[in-house]
Order: sequence, then structure tokens, then C-alpha cells
Amino acid sequence: MIGYIKRHLTARLFVSYLLVILIIAVITGAILAVAAPNAYNRHLGVERQTTGEFGKGGGEGNQQAGNFKAAVFEAFSIAVAAGVAVAVIISLLISRSIAAPVKAIAQASRRIADGHYSERVQAPASDQQKDVDEIGRLGVNFNHMAESLEKTETMRRQLLADVSHELRTPLTTIRGTAEGLMDGVVQPDLETYQVLLAEAERMQHLVEDIQELSRVEAGQYQLQITKFFIRELLNRLEKRFDFQFREAGINLHIPDPGDIEMRADINRVDQVLQNLVGNALKYTHPGGRVEVSVSQDETGTHFSVVDTGRGLTHEDLELVFTRFYRVDASRARETGGSGIGLTIAKEWVEAHGGEIWAESEGLGQGSTFCFTIPLE
Ligand code: ADP
Repeated sequence: MIGYIKRHLTARLFVSYLLVILIIAVITGAILAVAAPNAYNRHLGVERQTTGEFGKGGGEGNQQAGNFKAAVFEAFSIAVAAGVAVAVIISLLISRSIAAPVKAIAQASRRIADGHYSERVQAPASDQQKDVDEIGRLGVNFNHMAESLEKTETMRRQLLADVSHELRTPLTTIRGTAEGLMDGVVQPDLETYQVLLAEAERMQHLVEDIQELSRVEAGQYQLQITKFFIRELLNRLEKRFDFQFREAGINLHIPDPGDIEMRADINRVDQVLQNLVGNALKYTHPGGRVEVSVSQDETGTHFSVVDTGRGLTHEDLELVFTRFYRVDASRARETGGSGIGLTIAKEWVEAHGGEIWAESEGLGQGSTFCFTIPLE
């Protein structure tokens, strides 16, 4: 019995209510037993004094007092019995209603531990969360926790599926080429070795990108925030891309921002810009133009990379930031794209509290990629 009470919150609450009820009943009874006869005698004395009935003998008075005591205790016992019965029912209902959400959370957590990540408990809606008690808050927090566990699990599964899918293509090429070489179907010439090398390099890039993405997504990084001249950032960009743009026959315009400064992790912002300008180079035809621009106001520093390249459809604008998404997978393969660059760029911009988005009038109309880094 004691073991059962210890193990069940409803029983513990119920027993504690019961104890309170019994203590109140006993104390009330004891006080009544002591106070009622005295009060009776006092009031009877006052009445006799006022009515002048002093002659009534002690025997009759004692009997009256005894009857009064018995009547009071009878009425008290009935009142206590009825009160206790009602209190027992109410305390049982209250105990159950307090213990029920805790029980539900215990059951849901067990199911989540068994891998059922969609499990949720009943909790107040977000617009009612201001007035909830501790148990209500426990439910709300539990659901938050379950939601983020579910998200992480979905991401983990998706990542595994995506990675194995992405690795399958280069591995198939390498295996096919190796088998062809062994059977003498494929010539052991420079071109064959170049194919093998390109596939191996692509796998290496992919693995490096995945490593970085999983590190960023898991929050395993520390931003090195410093104050720097934006000119420094744009100089790095020019140094890195000038030759490649000349070779591709695309005009690259990088502005001189003057002496504007910003506070951020310079290497991460540089990485974002390199990704955007690198993409503009990949997806713009010879003779095209790519323009970087930068401005600053009280909300932050705004960067944009505008190209006259192949453009994006309305649907692509959202999806390009999704990992492994490539508008034209076969062409992206030729250009060595893994579809992770923009996902990593988005993570870095958001790590700074900023925003990144794409704009385009449609296919063939060029694209604009913009991002903002808040001032502080
Ligand atoms: P990738 O390494 O394949 O370029 P990203 O994540 O950087 O991966 O880009 C995802 C996809 O978005 C690309 O495969 C491409 O289809 C599209 N994309 C990115 N930048 C541009 C651009 N400037 N113009 C047109 N399409 C683009």
C-alpha cells in the first residue's frame, strides 16, 4: 500500500488531501468538545441573569447541558461525514487532474525514447501560453523538445539518404571505368585518368562540404567577430576571381566601398561572397556581367551579387538554399556543384543574425543574390 502511494502521484496527492481533511475534522471536533459546553454554560448564565430565572435547579441544568452537547455532536458528526465524503470526491478529481498531464508526459517521453518522434502531449496553444501554470509550461516545453528532436532526426535521416545518393554517382563512374580498364574496353589514356581524377575530386569536395555543413548545422563553431573595412573583403574577392572571370569572358564589377566598416566574422562573410560570386561565374554565359554591390544603413550591411546568367524560376528561388538542390543536376555535375554551397552560405548569414535570399525575373533573365548582416 505504502509502496503504491509512493509510486503514484494521484495516490500521493489524494492521501495528502485526505490527511488535511482528517486533521481539520479532528481539530474542529476537539475544539468543539472543549468550547461548546463552556459556551453553553456562559450563554445559559447570561440568559438566566436577564430573564431572572435563577431558581432552576442544578440537576435540570446539567441534563439540558448534556442534551445540548449530544445534539451538537450529532449535528457535527453528520456535517463532518457529509463534508468528508464531498471532500474525498473533490480531492480525488483534483489529484487526478493534476497527475494526468504528468502521466501523459511520462508516457510520451517513453514513446519518444522508443523512436516515435511525432509524439506530443496536450498543451496550451501559443496564444494562451502567458497564463499557464508550471504543469502547463512543462507540457509546452516538452512539446518544444519533442519537435526539435523530430527535426534533428528527420535531418539526420535526410542527410544520410542524400549523402549516399550523392556518392553513388561518382562511385558508379569510378567502378565502371575501372572495370572497363580491366576488360580492355576503356583505353588507359590521359582522358580516362582525368575522368577518374575528376570523380575522386568531386567526392572529396562533397565530403568536405558535408563535413562543414554538419558542423555548422550542429552549431559547432565560434564566430570570430571583428571590426574591419569592407574594402578588405572586396579586395580578397577581386584577387580570387579576377583571373577566372577574364578567362571565362565575363565582366566582373566590384565597387570601391570607401571607408565603411562592419562587424562580423570576416572569413565567414568572405566565404558567403565567394560562394555567390563563384555561382554567378558558373551560371553566366561568356559575354555576361556580374556586379557586386554593398551598402550600409542603420539596419545593417547589405550585399548583393547580380548576374546576367541563366536565371531562376519562381520555385527555384526558395529551393536553391535547400541542401543538395541543383536546378539542373546533370549540368551542375559538369560544373562540379554539389548543391551545398548556398546551404552553407545561408547557415553563416543566419549565424550572424542576418538574412539571405534570391531574386530573378525567370529563366534567362539573370539572378540576384542578396544578404544582410545586422550592425551588431
Ligand atoms: P552548387 O555547388 O551546385 O552550385 P549551390 O548550393 O551553390 O550548389 O547552388 C545550388 C543551385 O542553385 C545550383 O546548382 C544552381 O542550380 C542554382 N544557382 C545558384 N546560383 C545561381 C545563379 N547565380 N544563377 C543560376 N542558378 C544558380
